[in-house]
Amino acid sequence: MSESSCDSISNSMMMTCFCGGMASCCTSRTPLNPGRRFYRCSKPKIENCGFWSWEDSSSGNSSIEVNLLKSKLEVATLKMENLRESLNAIKIERDNLKKKMENLESLNYFKVKKSRNLEAKVSKVNMLCILSFTVLVVFVIAIFK
Ligand SMILES: [Zn+2]
Repeated sequence: MSESSCDSISNSMMMTCFCGGMASCCTSRTPLNPGRRFYRCSKPKIENCGFWSWEDSSSGNSSIEVNLLKSKLEVATLKMENLRESLNAIKIERDNLKKKMENLESLNYFKVKKSRNLEAKVSKVNMLCILSFTVLVVFVIAIFK
């Protein structure tokens, strides 16, 4: 038992659907609104965008639709704000990590610098050792000649 009958899209009044397509014009067969014409998404249930509007009134069901969309928008906005907040938290976390890494890098740089200085000192001491040993050898040879 069908509660409505839909015309093919030959009507002069064309309604654009939420999904961008043309809404089909239908006639209600319900006891509450017999013969009342309305527009609805012409797509099958799975792809249906939910568009629905009486032909004769801009309020009524379509305003319910608008309110529904408004509340959906509010929920979406809230979700977006939550996401934005968590994104900000992540950004702060990232900046903190970046700073930590920079600190570590500079620390590492100093360590590398220190060890290079130490290496230079060690090689200087080595040179000094070799030099003094040579001097000692020359001295010993001079003594025992
Ligand atoms: Zn649609």
